[in-house]
Amino acid sequence: MNYKRCVILLFDGARYDVFKDLLHSDRLPNIQRYLVNNGSFLKGYSSLCTTTGPAHIPFIYGIYPGTANVPGIRWFDKANIKTRFFMKTGLRSYVGPGSYYMGHDVSNEYKPLYEYFTKPVGIFSSLDKNHNIKIIGHKRHRIQKALYYIYAHYTHRWGSVDKAACRSVRKYLNRGVDFVFSVFPGIDEITHLNHPLHQKTLEQYQVLDKFVGNMFNDLKNEGEEDTLIFMVSDHGLSQTHKHISVVELSKKEGYSPVYYPRIFNNKYDIAIMESGNAMAFIYFMKPVRDKPAFYDEIISIDKNKIFIEKILDQDGIDIIAYRLEKSKICVRNKHGQLEITYKDDGNLSLNPKGFNPLGFNVNKENLSLKDSLSITRKTLYPDSIIQLKQLFNSERTGDVVVFAKLGYDLRDKHEWPEHKSSHGSPLKAHMEVPICTNLNLKSGSCRIVDIFPTVLQQFNRKIPENIDGNAIE
Ligand SMILES: [Zn+2]
Repeated sequence: MNYKRCVILLFDGARYDVFKDLLHSDRLPNIQRYLVNNGSFLKGYSSLCTTTGPAHIPFIYGIYPGTANVPGIRWFDKANIKTRFFMKTGLRSYVGPGSYYMGHDVSNEYKPLYEYFTKPVGIFSSLDKNHNIKIIGHKRHRIQKALYYIYAHYTHRWGSVDKAACRSVRKYLNRGVDFVFSVFPGIDEITHLNHPLHQKTLEQYQVLDKFVGNMFNDLKNEGEEDTLIFMVSDHGLSQTHKHISVVELSKKEGYSPVYYPRIFNNKYDIAIMESGNAMAFIYFMKPVRDKPAFYDEIISIDKNKIFIEKILDQDGIDIIAYRLEKSKICVRNKHGQLEITYKDDGNLSLNPKGFNPLGFNVNKENLSLKDSLSITRKTLYPDSIIQLKQLFNSERTGDVVVFAKLGYDLRDKHEWPEHKSSHGSPLKAHMEVPICTNLNLKSGSCRIVDIFPTVLQQFNRKIPENIDGNAIE
């Protein structure tokens, strides 16, 4: 098939099981008719941190957030932090206007999908670096996004932002663009305000289904046949009943933390950066201040050791992970731990003590990174082996990474409106996402990082060697 244009619709925060139930009960008739009947419906596996922004990178660049060195929606770079006149550089929050730094934080060695097309448009995406190719309506979309997002933040009318995105996609397809990447924030934001199965959330899936019907109606004249379409999601969410503030826990232990929005503290001895907010990075300034610290180094100070044990002991903390050596990490919960060594030959060495916190069978022989998805697929943490590896590939990932249990998150004050649902962790509810396409694929599942090379393959473009994804079969 010779495609002339490609459309990627990102239904931010759509959860695989919720979407599947709606689809199978005929409540998404347009997606069923135009995408699934002659195309494919796949189970997608997201990327850590499973959070808006970092989890959009796989679609636009074909790489993991860790590879992009953008491991969280907030991060602290121990090697590059500098303070001048109370202002700090070397840390980020992509929440709000800071979101536009994200594209610039991804190295130029990775080429965004926009650059493989001649008339690309990006709608409501923060990953719209406009350097090597002119993204149509670039400035206007940034202003429009700011105004719509501020309005929706204060009125909770996120449906109107999705509506505006729908109008823009249809308008630009009418004008003959050859690539559209559009973010629809409605499902994610409405779930944060409610929960994944709330009536308002489910209605938003159906609103977007109607839009898919309208878009295909338009395409009947423009060329439905030569348009490659993907409907994707970046992460799921789970309902949150209780907030545990890692920042407040650190204060109780006598630390002076730097965290968002309190980044002006210059006497800090720890940094805490949450994402989603079911994940938090902890960076210890002692004993290693200028680079990520290994566990043995961290716990050479008793205070750090006591703090880590207290975190693990909290109700609502699921697992923690940290670096043991280069290419060796440890994952722990209250009942056991697993050391994973990622060997240069692609094999894994696993050393469990007690119960394996990631829940897969550790007694299998000759485990390789290649098999890691199938080993973990049926666990509560699908694709955990590779996701933890890619997360710790970034030097900006915390010394200790904390993940909340279902029902909990890790940020309390400074979050308005209150998050009643969360994401960011390797839990199945956050990791599994729906992927639909009018492309007929054999495979029943993929990683979200695989969509980028699949698109390039369909447009006969050379797939770069430095990406993480593989074309879906
Ligand atoms: Zn999202």
